[in-house]
Amino acid sequence: MSLRNNVLHGLPEHVQFCKKCVMSNQRPNSVVEFKNTGKTIKPTIFFDEDQICSACKYKEIKRKEIDWKEREHELKVLCDKFRSKNGSYDVIIPGSGGKDSIMVSHLLKNKYNMNPLTVTWAPHTYTEIGWKNFQTWINSGFDNLLNTPNGHVHRLLTTIAFKNLCHPFQPFIIGQRMTGPKFAALYKIPFVAYGEHPAEYGDRLDEAFDPKMKEKYFILENDLDNLVLGGIPAKKIIMDNNLKKSDMNPYIPVEPRLLKEINVEVHHISYYMNWDPQENYYYAVEKAGFKSNTERTQGTYSKYSSIDDKLDPLHYFTTLIKFGIGRTTYDAAQEIRNEKIDRKEGIALVKKFDQEFPDKFFTEMLSYMSISKEEFWDVINRNRSPHLWKHEKDEWKLIHQVN
Ligand SMILES: [Zn+2]
Repeated sequence: MSLRNNVLHGLPEHVQFCKKCVMSNQRPNSVVEFKNTGKTIKPTIFFDEDQICSACKYKEIKRKEIDWKEREHELKVLCDKFRSKNGSYDVIIPGSGGKDSIMVSHLLKNKYNMNPLTVTWAPHTYTEIGWKNFQTWINSGFDNLLNTPNGHVHRLLTTIAFKNLCHPFQPFIIGQRMTGPKFAALYKIPFVAYGEHPAEYGDRLDEAFDPKMKEKYFILENDLDNLVLGGIPAKKIIMDNNLKKSDMNPYIPVEPRLLKEINVEVHHISYYMNWDPQENYYYAVEKAGFKSNTERTQGTYSKYSSIDDKLDPLHYFTTLIKFGIGRTTYDAAQEIRNEKIDRKEGIALVKKFDQEFPDKFFTEMLSYMSISKEEFWDVINRNRSPHLWKHEKDEWKLIHQVN
């Protein structure tokens, strides 16, 4: 996978941790998943000479340099540009009914007087709390289209992505990013409003000043010829599994022509406001009756984010294996930046929960992917990069930990 044989997944060989949060420099930036062959060097979060990660740098910029009144005005101008005059839908809001999509949809509908059509790319398997919150969202005043891919094909692609890339969440991510633009083209609604800008979590800082999602994430020329899923050309998957071309429809990016016809603009709403996940949670509780889980999610200490999919905890377990970064590291890094906890608390939480194995839905998820425990652990152990993991006394241990 890499030119250096002790480093898998195209990661940086030298491991560093941010001096301000708990993130390590092994965190990959967003990639175009439908071109991901698993053989490319991964662009990873940038660390400056003081060993501060770019997500923390962005937080400083948010605090000191951005004029939020001006950004709010920009959002108003944007809404004015697209607001419907006859009551028809004028903005597509992709979301799951989690705290962020509830916040964005209520804000655009009630403060900016827009007429949203919310669209949802279904989780692999809904958790009970996730399904309840999804219903709560709709019942708080929104029309919604639930886009559920063919279960047989989605399971197959999830299994392929897990076995081949140790990335079972990949088919979900692909669908989630293109659901908004696809429905925009289908319903001829040229404004799409996603929530978080990837710069919030450490993607390239120079991209933080552009509110629009990069088109590369949702368009592809010559669709099926160039489409790669789980690291394998889609055409081969179709042939090997006796599928039809139409079985791939949910994963085929939008034709650029269709988006150009109506000049679709895909925006991240977090660009326009001082985005803070915990504040979004409070907002969603107040405006829509959003409920956090009764127990914390395995692998972390939090109870209110990404709680709708039974595959989610396993997804973060694979990031722990591949990058040495588990769910607690992601959650604590974000909460340190937003001054909800300090770095010392963050480190203690990482030590306590980051490597916890998510066994709650494990058997169910193995059966979802039609694989045995042995196959699961074989994939997991093959994906532990020697520059991150050592095997000692029958136990796998991370070589570098935040301190
Ligand atoms: Zn940081």
